[in-house]
Amino acid sequence: MIDYHIHTNHSVDARGAIHEYCGRAQKLCLQEICFTNHCELDTFRNDNLIQFGNDRQPLTREGLRKMQYEVLRAKELYKGSGLTIKFGLEVGYYEGIESRLQEITEGIDFDFILGSIHCLDHICIDSSKECAQYFSRYSVKDMLFNYYRVIEQLINSQLFDSIGHLDVYKKYGLGFYGEGINTFPEQYLIKIFRMMVEKKIALEVNAAGYRQFNEFYPSSTLMKCARQQGVSMITIGSDCHKVEDLGGGIEEALEYARSFGFEAMYIFDKRKPIKIKL
Ligand SMILES: [Zn+2]
Ligand SMILES: [Zn+2]
Repeated sequence: MIDYHIHTNHSVDARGAIHEYCGRAQKLCLQEICFTNHCELDTFRNDNLIQFGNDRQPLTREGLRKMQYEVLRAKELYKGSGLTIKFGLEVGYYEGIESRLQEITEGIDFDFILGSIHCLDHICIDSSKECAQYFSRYSVKDMLFNYYRVIEQLINSQLFDSIGHLDVYKKYGLGFYGEGINTFPEQYLIKIFRMMVEKKIALEVNAAGYRQFNEFYPSSTLMKCARQQGVSMITIGSDCHKVEDLGGGIEEALEYARSFGFEAMYIFDKRKPIKIKL
C-alpha cells in the first residue's frame, strides 16, 4: 500500500511527528509514503506558516529546507526496511502564485508536488468557518466556474505533478447550495480533463472524503469523465492530518479507481512519474 498525501505536525492543522508516521507506516506494512505538508503562500492570508515542534514560523525557504532535512533523515533511517519515504509538498494554488512558489522552492529537490485549491478570493472554501463567506458571494454555477477557471491556471502553470482533491468544494458546498453542487456542465469538465492529459498532470484520488462522508474526491461523475477523456495518471492519498488516519481509505480508493477502469497509479521520484500497476 502506498500513501501519497500526508500531513505531519509541520502543517499547522495536523498532529504527529515524522517518526510517528514512519513507525505507523511500518506497522501497516506500507511500501511507500510521501509527506506533503501545506505550502500556503497567499500573502493576503495569515496561514503562510510552518511548524517545528511548538514553534510556529512564517514559511520560508529555510523552513522548507529544514523540513526536507528531517524527511531525508527518516528516509536514511528506514533504508532497507521495506518502507520508502518521499519528500513532497501540497501547494495551495491561487492566481499569481507562480513567482513566489518558484522563489521559495528554488534549489530544493522535491519528489512530488501536489497542487490543490483551498482558497478563492483569499477565502478558504475548505474551512467550515470561512466557506459561507465565499459561497454567499456567488451562485453555485458561478462558484463552480470560478473554481475550475483557477484549476485551468493550475494545470497550465505546469508546476505540479498531481491535482489534490479536485472537487473539494462539495465538502461544504453540498450543505450550502444543495445538489446543484454536482451539476457542472460536462463540456467544461471534458475540457479540463483533456488539458490534464495534454499537460501530463495526474489526478489525485483522495480518501479524506471517504473517511468523513463516505465519498471520495473526485466523485464518480468526475472519475468517469476523466477516464473517458483519457486521464490515465492517478495518485492516491489519505490526506491524513493525524497518525491514526495514515493509509485510511487507501485500499478502498484503489478499488474505487479500478472500478472506473484505471489500470495504474503513479509514484514519483525527484518529480519523475513511475507507473505502478493496480
Ligand atoms: Zn488540501
Ligand atoms: Zn492535504
